[in-house]
Amino acid sequence: MPADCLFCRIVAGEIPAARLHQDDLVIAIRDINPQAPTHVLVLPVRHVASAAELGDDDGALLGRLFGVAAVLAAREGLGNGWRLVTNVGTDGGQSVDHLHLHLLGGRAMGWPPG
Ligand code: AMP
Ligand code: ZN
Repeated sequence: MPADCLFCRIVAGEIPAARLHQDDLVIAIRDINPQAPTHVLVLPVRHVASAAELGDDDGALLGRLFGVAAVLAAREGLGNGWRLVTNVGTDGGQSVDHLHLHLLGGRAMGWPPG
């Protein structure tokens, strides 16, 4: 684990976070600066820098990330719809270099995103 990775430190319990889910592959936490009534981050337990590092061997991890997001969307009452976003790199707006899906819902989303 990179010692300076914020999300690795959250996974390790060194930094507190509001955990909504934890299993062997994935955890989910509430975003500290929510951009919608529901704003949850779903992230792998192991350090993966971004979606740019994913490949054919990551099918199980991706299935779990999406599956947990869908379960949490239902639990949060997002029956009207929701959005998953993952930012990659500087132009993509990534500020934490540990892969995470933003699960956003509870309001109508604009398109295209800014
Ligand atoms: P991104 O900019 O796509 O890399 O997303 C990083 C997200 O992490 C942002 O939405 C931040 O609000 C969120 N964030 C930063 N620090 C924390 C923290 N300590 N706990 C929960 N979410 C955080
Ligand atoms: Zn990490």
